Amino acid sequence: MLVRVSLAAEGQDEALDQLMVQLRERLRKDKAADIGDLLGRLEASAIALEQQRDHISLSVRESLAQVLKPWQGAALSRSLKRDISDYLAQLPKRSKKIRLYPALLQQLADLQQQAFSQIEQPKTGLLQRLIGAKNTASADDAAGVLLPLENSHLPESPITAAQSDATELWFGKLLALINEFLESLEQDDQWREPVQQLRQELSASDSIEAALGSLRQVRSLVMEAYLSANRAFADYLDRVNRELAEISTLLGGAVQSSYAGQEASAQLQAQVIQEMTSLEQQAEEATDLVQLKQRVQSQLGSIRQALDRFQQTEQAQQQLAVQLNSLGEKIKIMEAEAEQNRTTLEQQRFKALHDALTELPNREAYNERARAEVQRWERYGRPLAIAIIDIDHFKKINDNYGHQAGDRVIKVIGRSIAKRLREVDFFCRYGGEEFVALMPETSGDNALIVLEKIRDAIARAAFNYKEQPLQITISAGLTEFKPGDTLDSAFERADQALYAAKSNGRNATQQV
Ligand code: GH3
Ligand code: MG
Ligand code: MG
Repeated sequence: MLVRVSLAAEGQDEALDQLMVQLRERLRKDKAADIGDLLGRLEASAIALEQQRDHISLSVRESLAQVLKPWQGAALSRSLKRDISDYLAQLPKRSKKIRLYPALLQQLADLQQQAFSQIEQPKTGLLQRLIGAKNTASADDAAGVLLPLENSHLPESPITAAQSDATELWFGKLLALINEFLESLEQDDQWREPVQQLRQELSASDSIEAALGSLRQVRSLVMEAYLSANRAFADYLDRVNRELAEISTLLGGAVQSSYAGQEASAQLQAQVIQEMTSLEQQAEEATDLVQLKQRVQSQLGSIRQALDRFQQTEQAQQQLAVQLNSLGEKIKIMEAEAEQNRTTLEQQRFKALHDALTELPNREAYNERARAEVQRWERYGRPLAIAIIDIDHFKKINDNYGHQAGDRVIKVIGRSIAKRLREVDFFCRYGGEEFVALMPETSGDNALIVLEKIRDAIARAAFNYKEQPLQITISAGLTEFKPGDTLDSAFERADQALYAAKSNGRNATQQV
């Protein structure tokens, strides 16, 4: 019997196997009396084996759990999620029995396969599908869905289909990031409404193409947020500048009055300290350009120190006058620095709002201005016209003369249209060889007259490139804002009119 048992137990552990061989030999030779020492060693070896088995069971359990856990955060059906939870709950017990391993692995494969197939056939929008089940999907949700798909050591078969759409995965990550960004932007009252709308659009879009449209809006939103932060900081600088000018005047007066006696200087001190406190408080509240803030604060600190010294020491007032003078100088320098900062900001703002090629306003500027014009139109009901202008057969210009010539044409045409419009009209390069004009206080009929003149002037103009004559024409679609219009609906109408002008043979202006 012992021989049989020892044979059945074989293959678990090498040391144990050797001991078994010895045991069988001794039993066969009927040396039963000699097996006492062997039994001791056998027992030790069996205990070691048991520990090893516990260890293996633990690591199997951990590995299996690792494979399934990420799915718990994914957008799976409730029953599948429950199956996965049950599986995970029973793991500690079941993984102790090696004979159950095949069944455990089989179940794992089944669960994985079901999970993948649910992820592949979503009934929700692209965003939910890619970055999580909830409307306000977070980065964690994204990781939950994406992680299992990415695990390269997973078995091949169930994941090939899911992996085939690598672009979607990548895009999903991108959307998750953008979603995070939008969430943070949403904290600001100013952006809450447009951001929420955009997030809804993103969740509802059911294809990458549709999501791309919304992403363009994200870009505009980012630009706007950036520009508005810029404006806020420029205002702050303005304020600092004014305060500094006041202090400067105050100190200038103080240099003289300090000769007039203690009482006057005490008064000065109180006054200046009051000014300082208010300035410090404002500097404290500003959140932009930390560096400048620090500089302002350190200057203020030194002013305050000087004033404290004035109170504490009984040194000659002459000396104070010198100090105050030098403080005045410092303040002048600060004023100049603040002015310099302002100029830089203005330059940055110009760059952000203008197209580099034509130096005309760009699309960001359009978004800003169009919103303002539409609001004015809604409030006062004055006429407002919008026109889209597109160069005819522009591809041919690129093809025949090269891209550089094309660029020159865009620049020349853009500028010659701009100079024919009124100062109050807004004109921008909307993209490529397309321009948009917003004409406040202008009816559709009046705008038509203006645009026709421009179209005609351009058709007649003698352009040339490297001494070759170049015939260039433009087409325009235009419309007047009508009750119930939004910026988008009016733009859309103007675009349709442009399409009609093109269909009518180009070199034409069309009004709807
Ligand atoms: P259509 O009369 O119908 O407007 O014909 P089109 O050839 O002008 O057609 P479309 O407006 O569709 O094509 C515009 C082309 O302009 C496509 C693109 O290659 C080119 N383009 C867009 N942006 C630029 C640019 O910045 N520089 C140059 N050189 N070409 C551009
Ligand atoms: Mg064109
Ligand atoms: Mg075009």
